[in-house]
Amino acid sequence: MLQGCTPWPEETAARYRRDGLWRGEALGDLLRDWARRYGSATALVHGERRISYRDLDARVDRMAAGFLRHGVRPGERVVLQLPNVPEFVIVAFALFRMGAEPVFSLASHRASEIRHLCELSGAAAYVVPGTHRGFDHVALALRMLDEVPTLRRAFALDAPGDAAVTPLAEVDAEPAGLPPVDPSDVAFFLLSGGTTALPKLIPRTHDDYAYQVRTVAELCGLTSADVYLAALPVEFNFTWGCPGVVGTLASGGRVVLADDPAPDDCFAAIERERVTITSVVPTVAQLWLEAMEWEPAGLSSLRMIQIGGARLQPELAARIEPGLGCRLQQVFGMAEGLLSMSRADDDPASVLETQGRPISPADEVRIVDEHGHDVPPGVAGELFTRGPYTLRGYYRAQEHNRRAFTSDGFYRTGDVARLTPEGRLVIEGRLKDVIIRGGDKISAGEVEGHLLTHPRIARAAVVPVPDDFLGERIYAFLVAPGEQPGLPELKRTLHERGLAEFKLPDRVEFVEAFPLTPLGKVDKKVLAAAAGDRTAPRDWAKEG
Ligand code: AMP
Repeated sequence: MLQGCTPWPEETAARYRRDGLWRGEALGDLLRDWARRYGSATALVHGERRISYRDLDARVDRMAAGFLRHGVRPGERVVLQLPNVPEFVIVAFALFRMGAEPVFSLASHRASEIRHLCELSGAAAYVVPGTHRGFDHVALALRMLDEVPTLRRAFALDAPGDAAVTPLAEVDAEPAGLPPVDPSDVAFFLLSGGTTALPKLIPRTHDDYAYQVRTVAELCGLTSADVYLAALPVEFNFTWGCPGVVGTLASGGRVVLADDPAPDDCFAAIERERVTITSVVPTVAQLWLEAMEWEPAGLSSLRMIQIGGARLQPELAARIEPGLGCRLQQVFGMAEGLLSMSRADDDPASVLETQGRPISPADEVRIVDEHGHDVPPGVAGELFTRGPYTLRGYYRAQEHNRRAFTSDGFYRTGDVARLTPEGRLVIEGRLKDVIIRGGDKISAGEVEGHLLTHPRIARAAVVPVPDDFLGERIYAFLVAPGEQPGLPELKRTLHERGLAEFKLPDRVEFVEAFPLTPLGKVDKKVLAAAAGDRTAPRDWAKEG
């Protein structure tokens, strides 16, 4: 097991193996099996491009050998930043196969996040698209090569012919003698939704991810007749493996990569490719419903839509099946592990009102009060979990891990949930300091830290404000004793600091002082309530 990771206790790991949950399969080898089984069937579709299982496997082999030749070594981390293109899948599996570990960054990440991910992971290489959505990733890669001491190589999908950045097309060599990969080792890293100022790295092993993907694919009844539309970014756990891209490939189905979740593109792809299953966040589901009302599209091939990543209001849930003509599956999950889903034979009311049941009988779930004691059935409390695909510790985060996990290995999710008498989860809210805007998770602390670098800002407190469309938006309360900068100026400052666009505050409000809890901490509950009620008094200076 990689240094900096917390392994499962030996006896627990032995039990997962004995019970057949962990089968000792490396993801790179699994792709070989799938290619053998599904050969000439189409594995990936992107626009006009179609790639068969056999060709995917061969390309992955050559690229794995190519990475070795270009000096990437087994056991090294590689920050992977690509949009929804076949190369994302090819690069990820090539790295799995040679035993290097991709760190799945978001395509929307900028210098601030990428520098952090490279430094935290000690990345040896960075893979970028070229210019994507008007942003020059090659320039960013050059800058990172300059700034991050561990970073030796950069690879680009559309390379400019710059010697420092190698075109991905040149990462190609005769496959010979790939090193063996230990399935209990880390396969790749997902990013935490950010309860702390900067994203944490979530190590996912070959064993645990293969188990997750196999379990969800079975639960969704996936077969080689299925066509999965990757509408959300592929680097999300939801899109990558719930069952997503990897689950579809494991079932012999076809993965269709969409550039964007916008209804126009996705509806055309669904009609053209006869898509059967897809996964979206509630905001996208709402857009799709509105688009269908405006101009009905032929979505008859779609048998199931998974909705998750953020709270799905029961009223919106009730409109899905009649509006889109397919079955709704609610998904509550986290990149850290635990997944909970409604099932095909669940009664309709529970599909609308609950987030279903954990996917594995080996998932352990506790609902606890603020002292860590289990609450009586039906009472809401913080959700704790551990299990065969839930991490035991973030990578290189020893101190944070002491708070984020109990001594017996339960992950404190920061989500507030209750269990129905049938054992279904209902997510009621959250304790963690995170804003869920659309499906994007934004750490309040991270945005606050950047706001405080503005010379006129003395204090900053960022809270969610309810929003009909996005669920929540980012609301920043600021204390600035002198002249107050406007929102455009603040946005510019954050932008220049290299913060991803989706983390910029939607609204700012200047106040004299913040309300405080009895313990003297900033009372974010009061701030969040005030953000949603512009008429509420803001005379906290007197109280505090
Ligand atoms: P991520 O790891 O980025 O997928 O974010 C995981 C977090 O998203 C969870 O801990 C929840 O706070 C939130 N989340 C995911 N799915 C749901 C859902 N169905 N309902 C409410 N919150 C959700």
